[in-house]
Parts: sequence; structure tokens; C-alpha cells
Amino acid sequence: MEALNKSFFLFLASRPSLDRFAKRWGSKFGADKIVGGETFEHAVPLIQNLNSQGLRVTVDHLGEFVASEAEARERTLECLQSIRMISAHDLNSQLSLKVTSLGLDINPELVWENMIQIMDEAVKHDVFVTIDMEDSSRTQATLDLYKALKKKYNNIGTVIQSYLYRSDQDLDDLNEVKPNLRLVKGAYKESAKVAFPDKSDVDHNLKLLIKKHLLNGNYTAIASHDDAIIQYTKELVREHGIAKDQFEFQMLYGMRSERQLELLAEGYTVRVYMPYGNDWYGYFMRRLAERPANIAFALNGLFKK
Ligand SMILES: Cc1cc2nc3c(=O)[nH]c(=O)nc-3n(C[C@H](O)[C@H](O)[C@H](O)COP(=O)(O)OP(=O)(O)OC[C@H]3O[C@@H](n4cnc5c(N)ncnc54)[C@H](O)[C@@H]3O)c2cc1C
Repeated sequence: MEALNKSFFLFLASRPSLDRFAKRWGSKFGADKIVGGETFEHAVPLIQNLNSQGLRVTVDHLGEFVASEAEARERTLECLQSIRMISAHDLNSQLSLKVTSLGLDINPELVWENMIQIMDEAVKHDVFVTIDMEDSSRTQATLDLYKALKKKYNNIGTVIQSYLYRSDQDLDDLNEVKPNLRLVKGAYKESAKVAFPDKSDVDHNLKLLIKKHLLNGNYTAIASHDDAIIQYTKELVREHGIAKDQFEFQMLYGMRSERQLELLAEGYTVRVYMPYGNDWYGYFMRRLAERPANIAFALNGLFKK
């Protein structure tokens, strides 16, 4: 049943045609509990509130289905604006972005130009940028882009997904640029040709990747709500004497808020991933796919005033 739910919501996530309905009814389905508002201005007080509790943030302007060069340039301007707003409001926040929204599927030169503009602005305002990882058809292009950008800029990271068979090799290939990586299980619908079908293998592989990346001496963001992964990391860093400034825990906005504060109280760095914007449909559907309890949470939102 759980596998069926997951496939169903991941299928819906890949249907841009349902987007318009979602934008209209989204807040009724609880989207506003996990999205920081429609504009960056809406997100600012929420980020300030998290910062005042000691939580760091990474903001993501939602959007993944761009069809034209003009749209990709618009998304680039939005990223530039977010960087300026982070700086103007003195927010403790990084920026996360998706390279398909900047034109990855349209033209490699376009996405490179857009990323250069974003990175130049990010350097100017001392803002760190993470390239989110999307589905496996984009993994190689995203990692190639990341590697080239990392040779030019220090303030950039990307994401490795433990459900992919290739990820251990990717970690080795990236190591020459001393990558700053967010390690996750992976959120997209993937076939058994490229990804572990069993959750226990995905969990096990995440532990292996965390261990390898930390012992390589690289900065690591452990992005998971899973207590077993968090506990594993705590024991690993203790055993190997890894300093607390070499890693951080990351969780999604609106998920496990109390756990975030507990980790903070234990002296760990905790960062909250806050998406904003009205193009939240794919993001919301992936969250429903991950956790059946989120369905109850969404329906609860539907029946509340
Ligand atoms: C900051 C951040 C950034 C991410 N970026 C990307 C990305 O760029 N690309 C990508 O593919 N994926 C990304 N993801 C999503 C990620 O790949 C997983 O799909 C998602 O985090 C679910 O896996 P999990 O490790 O959190 O726990 P799961 O495997 O979903 O759950 C494991 C256990 O954790 C507990 N748990 C999980 N969620 C909750 C909850 N809300 N409340 C209480 N208990 C809970 C439950 O006990 C559950 O059984 C990101 C996730 C985070 C947190």
C-alpha cells in the first residue's frame, strides 16, 4: 500500500498539467505549512523567526518545469533577487536552486551563463548556493556543471542521493574538487535499473556515503528526518573525532520542528530548507509520496477553515 501511494504521488509530481489546479487550491491541502509563502517577502519573517531560534536556513524558489529561455532567465532574476534580499535583511540563509529551472534541459550554455550570474552575485553578498539534485536523467549534467563551477567558486555545493547505484562512484569522482555536499536518500521516481528498490539498501548506502564523505575531510550536510541516520552520524563523528563545524543536519521547513530544536540544543548546526513561490506542486507531491502521514496532514488542512 505504501509503495502504491509513493508511486501515485510521484506520478502526480511529474504532471505539470495539474499545476494550475494545485496553485488555486494548494493552501487548502496544507501546502502553506511546508512552503514559506508565495514570494520572498512572505518568507522573510518566517526565516527571521527560525534565525532568532538559532536555526539556519536555505531558501529555494520553487519551480522545475520551465519551457523557454525567457522563463529560465526570469528564474535566474528571481535567484539574484533572493540573494540580494538575504543580504539586505541580514538573514542567516543560503540559496538552493534547481538547474532545470535555469534551463538545463534547454541549452547547456544558457544554464552556464545563468549560473555564472547567480554565483557572481552570491560571491558579492557572501551567500552559499546549493544545486539541488533532480531525477537521474539529470544527474550527470548536474554533476558536470557543479564540478566546473566548483573550480571557479568556493561557495557552492550540490546533492548526492543514496538511492542511486552510481552515488558511491560519484563521491569518488567529485573528491578532487573537495565538494561541499548535502547527502539525501532521494525523492524522485526511479527504476530498479538505476536505484535500489529496497529502502533498507537506500538507508544503508546513505550511511556509507556519510562516512566516506566525512572521512574524506569534506563538509557534509546530512539531510534526513530519520532518527536512525541522525543517530548513526552522531556516533560516527564521536568515534572519529570529527569536529562539529565539518557537518550540519538539514530538515525541511514544517517537518520535525521539535527535533530540529533538540539537535540545536545538543550543539549541532541545523539548517531548515524553506521553499517559497507559487510553483510548489511537484515539491508538495514528493513530500506526500515520502510519508503517508503527510496525507493525513494535508487532508486535515483541507477540512480546516
Ligand atoms: C534539507 C533537505 C534537502 C533535500 N534535497 C533534496 C534534493 O536536492 N534532491 C532529492 O532528491 N531529495 C532531496 N531531499 C529529500 C530526500 O531525498 C528524502 O526524500 C526525504 O528527506 C525523505 O527521506 P528521510 O531521510 O527524511 O526519511 P524517510 O526515509 O522518509 O523516513 C525515515 C523515518 O524518519 C522518520 N520521519 C520522516 N519524516 C518524518 C516527519 N515528517 N515527522 C516525523 N518523523 C519522520 C520516520 O520514522 C520515518 O520512518 C531533501 C531533504 C531534505 C531534508
